[in-house]
Amino acid sequence: MSLREYRRKRDFRATPEPAGDDTPRAEGWSYVIQKHAATRLHYDFRLELDGVLKSWAVPKGPTFDPSDKRLAVETEDHPIEYGGFEGVIPEGEYGGGTVLLWDRGTWEPRDDPRRGLLEGKLVFTLHGEKLRGGWALVRLRRGRDGRAKQREWLLVKEKDGASIRRAGQEVTMARPLSVDSGRDLEQIARDRDRTWTSARAERGVPRRASRREADAASVAGVRLTHPERVVFARSGQTKEDVARYYERIAPRILPHLEGRPLTLVRCPEGAGRECFFVKHAGAWAPRALRRVSIQEKTKRADYLTVDSVEGLVGLVQMNVLELHTWNARADDLERPDRIVFDLDPGPGVAWARVAAAAAILRERLERMGLASFVKTTGGKGAHVVVPLRPRAGWAECLEFSRAVSEGLEREQPDAFLTAMAKAKRPGRILIDYARNHRGSTSVSAFSTRSRPTAPVSMPVSWDELPALAGGGAVVLADVERRLRDRGEDPWAGYEAVRQSLTAARLKKAQGL
Ligand code: ATP
Ligand code: MN
Repeated sequence: MSLREYRRKRDFRATPEPAGDDTPRAEGWSYVIQKHAATRLHYDFRLELDGVLKSWAVPKGPTFDPSDKRLAVETEDHPIEYGGFEGVIPEGEYGGGTVLLWDRGTWEPRDDPRRGLLEGKLVFTLHGEKLRGGWALVRLRRGRDGRAKQREWLLVKEKDGASIRRAGQEVTMARPLSVDSGRDLEQIARDRDRTWTSARAERGVPRRASRREADAASVAGVRLTHPERVVFARSGQTKEDVARYYERIAPRILPHLEGRPLTLVRCPEGAGRECFFVKHAGAWAPRALRRVSIQEKTKRADYLTVDSVEGLVGLVQMNVLELHTWNARADDLERPDRIVFDLDPGPGVAWARVAAAAAILRERLERMGLASFVKTTGGKGAHVVVPLRPRAGWAECLEFSRAVSEGLEREQPDAFLTAMAKAKRPGRILIDYARNHRGSTSVSAFSTRSRPTAPVSMPVSWDELPALAGGGAVVLADVERRLRDRGEDPWAGYEAVRQSLTAARLKKAQGL
């Protein structure tokens, strides 16, 4: 197992691919498929074993049809880091072309995988985002000309639930987009060109606008591709409408976003179609966004924050329809500046009861000297938000929200529920305090949601909450009218609140 061949073929000054490192690492079982538009389009199938990615090039890609055996040509081992690679390998370099992260997850060998590799039969289970269930790689004994072909294998789906459910559907056609960024091959290539042309522009190199760009609308200085494309099928807003909404609402939404690590929901085909949760910054991310490096449980990763209207519109250009944020800002990451209670009504719970539950929670917090604010989620429920000065850490904030939530469940078990027991949910409201873990996110106030009616997570006053029709009742077209008609900020005073989670308040919550 060595990366020598991999490195020999590549010039790392010319290609963005990782060189990989040789430090021994804990055993992992990652699995990845990269769609690679090189001289010939093919799918690179990779399984982690003994510190490298064992690799096969599958010209036709995988299929769920067990009777359709796909040729898989063994290629050189790749570094583990390669599994995170998506981008463009320059023309003229080895493998020149566009690489799209088509699937990823883990694999589970069902026999000794080292022996399987030697003997030419690898049987395993895939836990990917697209591929699942039992699969096998079987080495061909002889090629068609009768000679032994050591590098030719067949990739075969086993008959199981996954093969039956997906029969008759080519998964490569049905789900062509990147699991990492939601982009197609063309967008990946275009984003790279964009990075290049803007780098050239910075150096003062003049350029001619392409036809595509000449047709594009510009909002807040950001060029939109396909401005006319309908994003919300039911309510009818186009990409340009959405960009203009964010441009106008920027003064309202930015204070809630500034400095917070983001999770984004990208919907390349519009709301209500397949969408992607994106946590980490990639080459696709608009340059107007700031990157912040954050230590996660097992690795460091770059997150994005948005602090400007250009950044906001840049996200719309990338087909982002939802902005979710952490409870802390990147410059004070270990001390949350808010707590979020997520109220999720079970089946059959009327909105009036959601509003009543929120009011009970508000009153409970009030008694502890804490002001709170409420917003619709744009989904089914509501979020009650407690702004804090960043003093206490994540553990205290989580513990406080747990204690308050469980106190309410104890007092009113017919109304409230804290554990996610689906069977017990009808008629009750789940208070989910899990939004207060480090790294958890909630949809931002004023963000759209990716549903065809264009609902928005709308801040409302406590008085108007019961009169709403539901958590998704306020839609994009209502937001500014609501703000105008009421003439007052529904969250007036939010910025001015000076309160923090003290030891005394935590004690009080635990005593409830
Ligand atoms: P509702 O009122 O309908 O419950 P909501 O905003 O409270 O709306 P959801 O829309 O169900 O709840 O969930 C959104 C939250 O769930 C996100 O803020 C995020 O924390 C989490 N989440 C959901 N799906 C994913 C995912 N694929 N990856 C990461 N986080 C996710
Ligand atoms: Mn919820």
